[in-house]
Amino acid sequence: MNFKPIIIAGPCSAETEKQVLATAKELSEMGVSIFRAGVWKPRTKPSDFQGAGEESLAWLKRVQREFGMKTAVEVANTQHVALALNAGVDILWIGARTTTNPFAVQEIADALQGYDVPILVKNPVTPDVELWLGAVERLQNAGIKQITAIHRGFGVGDAFYRNNPQWHVPIEFRRRMPEIPMLCDPSHIAGEKSLVAKVAQQAMQLNYNGLMLEVHCCPSEALSDVNQQITPKELVELLQNLVINQTNSKTEILSQLRRRIDDLDSSLIEILAQRMKISQEIGDYKKKNSIAVLQSDRYNEILQQCINQAISKNLNPDFIKKIFETIHEESIKTQFER
Ligand code: PEP
Ligand code: MN
Repeated sequence: MNFKPIIIAGPCSAETEKQVLATAKELSEMGVSIFRAGVWKPRTKPSDFQGAGEESLAWLKRVQREFGMKTAVEVANTQHVALALNAGVDILWIGARTTTNPFAVQEIADALQGYDVPILVKNPVTPDVELWLGAVERLQNAGIKQITAIHRGFGVGDAFYRNNPQWHVPIEFRRRMPEIPMLCDPSHIAGEKSLVAKVAQQAMQLNYNGLMLEVHCCPSEALSDVNQQITPKELVELLQNLVINQTNSKTEILSQLRRRIDDLDSSLIEILAQRMKISQEIGDYKKKNSIAVLQSDRYNEILQQCINQAISKNLNPDFIKKIFETIHEESIKTQFER
């Protein structure tokens, strides 16, 4: 089966109606069907361009109507959520700075309760996988079904990248939540247009489900993230050169999980063999010293301990009881045979 990555592309910010429509037109002509644009921008300094705001939501409506594209917008508070949903934006995303703040994520999740809108969750600024997973859980608890994660790198980056990719963090995220699709945002990792393709390729090698890229009709005139935006033509070239693994990521994730299950099963057998060996030694000792095989108090104590541990690990106590009854039965049997 041929795997096609999900592509979301568009400018860092919606700046003018002309810029939005010119960029969307070129992107739609090359087959991109999801248009991103920041309406409210989380800029570090108040003197930086803060986004065109509410007014630009009408421009995105034109993108939907005239080019048949879906639109995606960043929301950082409940007011943004209400305005974006009212304006018919198709997809919302939670930016890195917002994912860092659980109060903000919870408020957004509460505001989304009852809406069936796809949400993209960027990684938090810090390489804290729990915070990222926690943000997804807050949305899941609010009943949101279509959640996708976006890896956009961490912190202030190093000499090479604007935001350090720290690939192990999204890998751990996928290990913990394999059902959540993962996109890469190579633009914010790279911070520099010449590095965008390289990061995009690395994401494909890790079987990401797709990419969110910053594309501007005239990057040198961009009002935000001027160094990392590419032209629609450069995007065509990037996508043409992208080497895509022909296994779909679901299969790869499944086989990774299966390998881990196989390892754990092998450890279970190893531990059971060790346990049975000790049980035989106990059987020998009991026989030599004329001690009864069945010690009910000891058995009850073991069973209770295991059940308590099972409960603390969220395992079904009946399931654990059944397993330990079977183990104990086998243990007694081998002791009788000594
Ligand atoms: C953006 O996508 O333009 C943006 C602000 O991203 P991030 O939250 O990753 O910094
Ligand atoms: Mn940006």
